[in-house]
Formats: sequence, C-alpha cells, structure tokens
Amino acid sequence: KQRDPNQPEFQEAVGNFLKTITPVFEKHPEYIKANILARLTEPERAIQFQVPWQDDQGTMQVNRGFRVQFNSAIGPYKGGLRLHPSVNLSIVKFLGFEQIFKNSLTGLPIGGAKGGSDFNPKGKSDAEIMRFCQSFMTELQKYIGPDLDVPAGDIGVGGREIGYLYGQYKRLRGSERGVLTGKGLSYGGSLARTEATGYGLIYYTDAMLQANGDAINGKKILVSGAGNVAIYAIQKAQQRGAKVISASDSNGYVIDENGIDVDVLKQVKEVERGRMSDYAAKVPTAEYHEGSVWDADVQYDIALPCATQNEIDADRAARVIKNGAKAVAEGANMPSTPDAIAAYQKAGLLYGPAKAANAGGVAVSALEMSQNSRRLSDSFETVDGELKDIMETLFANSVAAAKEYGEDGNYLAGANIAGFTKVADAMLAQGW
Ligand code: NDP
Repeated sequence: KQRDPNQPEFQEAVGNFLKTITPVFEKHPEYIKANILARLTEPERAIQFQVPWQDDQGTMQVNRGFRVQFNSAIGPYKGGLRLHPSVNLSIVKFLGFEQIFKNSLTGLPIGGAKGGSDFNPKGKSDAEIMRFCQSFMTELQKYIGPDLDVPAGDIGVGGREIGYLYGQYKRLRGSERGVLTGKGLSYGGSLARTEATGYGLIYYTDAMLQANGDAINGKKILVSGAGNVAIYAIQKAQQRGAKVISASDSNGYVIDENGIDVDVLKQVKEVERGRMSDYAAKVPTAEYHEGSVWDADVQYDIALPCATQNEIDADRAARVIKNGAKAVAEGANMPSTPDAIAAYQKAGLLYGPAKAANAGGVAVSALEMSQNSRRLSDSFETVDGELKDIMETLFANSVAAAKEYGEDGNYLAGANIAGFTKVADAMLAQGW
C-alpha cells in the first residue's frame, strides 16, 4: 500500500489473495526465506507508452498504452489486452497479478501478463480502430514474441482488433503466428477460442454443482454482460438445459423469463455492435431496464457476473442472496468486491472465483500457441474436449489444495493455493 498508494484495484487483488494463502507459509517456511511474496507482487517489467493516432477528422489523438509482464516463472508471459477508458496502471496490474495464478491453474506452461489502453473503442469507425491498433502495436512489438510474451483479447479487444494488431506485427517483424492468440481461423486462430471463456465457465460451474450433489440442468441463471464471455456462457448454459434470463451492457439490462435468444444477442452485439436496448426492440418478451442487472428483483438459482470488476458490492450481494441464488461463478475478473465475497461465504453460497472459473479462455489460448508451433489446427471437438478436461481438472485441483490446507470447500482458497504453490516452487527452483 505504501509503494502503490494510488492503485486501489491492484491493492484489492493482492489483499484478497494474501488473505487466503497464509496456511501455505506455515507448511513452507522456505517461501518466506526466499521472499517469494515480495517478488510476486512486483511486476518483472511494466511498460507504459504513448499511442498517437489520427481520427477520421484528421485530428491527432493520444492515448496511453500499457503492458505489465508480471511473472515468467512457469512460461512466457501471457494475458489479454483491454481497451476501455477506465484502463490505468492499477487495473492492468490487478489483472496481470490475477493472471499469474489463473495461468498456473490451467496446468499449461504460461506466465502472467496484461496490457491495454485507455482508448475508448465505442463509436469509433473501423478505420479509427485500425489506426489505433497499428500505432499501439508499433510500440508493443518491441516487447513481445512467441516465446517471450503472447497477448490476447479482453474487454474491447475481439477478433477485429486482434486482426489489425497481428497485421501490424507481421509488417514489422514477419510472420510469427504464435505472437498473439484469439486470431481469425484463416490465419492461425484456434477453433473454440471465441467460445472458450464462456464455455469454460459453464464447465466449471457444473463441476462445482456436481461436487455438491447438484447440476446445472434445469437451473435459472442471471448473467451480466453481453460481450465475448457472457454470450458463450449463455449459449453453453442453455445447451446444458439451464435457462438464462438476462444479459446487460453498461447502459442497462434485459430480463426475459423465456430465456435469452442467443442468435439475436449475437446478431446485435457481434454483427451490428448495438446495445441491449436494440436487443429488447427485436425480442417482444424481453423487458429492458436502465442500470445494473444486479439491482433487479427476480428469482434465480445461479449468478454469473461476466461484465467487469467490482460490479457486485455488498448491497448487490445481499440482493443476489435474497433473490435465491445458491451459487456464484465469476466469468469477469474480480467482479465481486471483498465484502460481496464475504457475504456469499457467510450465506453458504457456492463461490467459484474468477481466476479458476474464467480460466478457459487463456487455456485455449495456450492450446492455440501449441497448434501454431505444430503448424496444425485441431478440430472444434478436440479443443472443446481439452477445455472441458482442463476446467474439471483445475476444479478438482482447487478442491484438493483447499482440503490439504484445512480450507475444505473453500474454492477461492483452493484456487489461490494451487495456483500459487506451482509458481512459488518454480521460482525457488530457478534461484534468485
Ligand atoms: P467484452 O468487451 O466482449 O464485453 C464486456 C461486456 O461487459 C460488455 O457487455 C460491456 O458493456 C460490459 N461492461 C464493460 N465494462 C462495464 C462497466 N464498467 N459497467 C457495466 N458493464 C460493463 O469483454 P469480455 O466479455 O471479453 O470480458 C468481460 C470480462 O471477462 C472482463 O472482466 C474480462 O477481463 C473477463 N475475461 C475475459 C476473457 C476473454 O477471453 N475474453 C478471459 C477471462 C476473463 P458495454 O458494451 O456497454 O461496455
């Protein structure tokens, strides 16, 4: 806190993490001696740069770009790029810190990083997005590479942006497909990457329910967000026999007791780049409301926050519990404040933390890197099957770690401990 007084999101992420891993130090004094925590909470490298670009009126604009390479103990840096006006060093550091343990949990050899810019993609033309991405990559390419650091998408960065970023990298450095993941299928992308975070969230949620004698089939679900994670979580939940009654964006949300129509949602969000109000105009049974979906008074069994950080605070958590939820699993990164998490745990809800529940995206990104190295493309079924195995295994590993350290049933502690011990052991083995 003294070193980074103006980084509240980073402090929150580190604070949440530290609270759960204390039992590890009682068993492993060697981690204390090697000062592993001090080394883990300081990025190995943090880069900040200027991103100048020209808008359609011919005016020069300047944004701020970031890449925080947090930890490379178990593999090359890996983590997404976020384009949103709220992006600053604190947000990128919180995301990069979480990414270290998420990536470790997948069981794949990838270190932790994150990046992005305070550029606001909303309302920009395709040409403006392209010029921004080209300028951003002109600087970023100095610091990344297929065996060094492999960025991907996050909020505001989907297939279109990855395409422009990759095109510029190729122009400057040559064709190295493994330098970015989330690429289009025609130039080295992996089948099932688009779906991976949302599908993985549902595989995780179902595994968590089944471990407690229940299942997702027949459940009523509230989802926030209407982006990449939310859309495919809704699709997979419906394929597994659940009913998802909501989707949202930063203006408002729809409730539809008949269930969200994924085809219409994809058309509005992915093709037309429209708003939830446009979705409501197309679906007669959908009711549109301004504000946050977490303030809605509807009954449901499971809450899946899939929009952004700190979207559920203590008051909203109280409403989630009052509305009947028995489980919360996080598609977004850090969507619940520490008070909200405490409220779920006190009320006995099943709680699947982000770094485990949303790890499917980065897991399939690592599979994309592997396909790029092999110069081969795996089928949708192969990748989806591997994703399901990875999510079930990481849930089982979290359960086992929680049990080993006296935190039985605490999936947050389990995920943090399992992710942490692997990274800490790799750091110890590699010396100071
Ligand atoms: P998208 O940009 O595709 O979608 C984000 C969605 O969340 C949009 O509906 C957006 O609404 C909404 N949203 C964003 N910011 C806010 C806000 N401040 N208040 C309310 N709603 C907001 O992003 P993703 O779906 O990729 O990412 C969503 C979350 O999942 C993020 O936390 C991300 O870090 C996390 N995540 C994503 C992964 C991936 O593979 N894409 C992997 C793991 C985690 P609007 O359009 O109005 O901005």
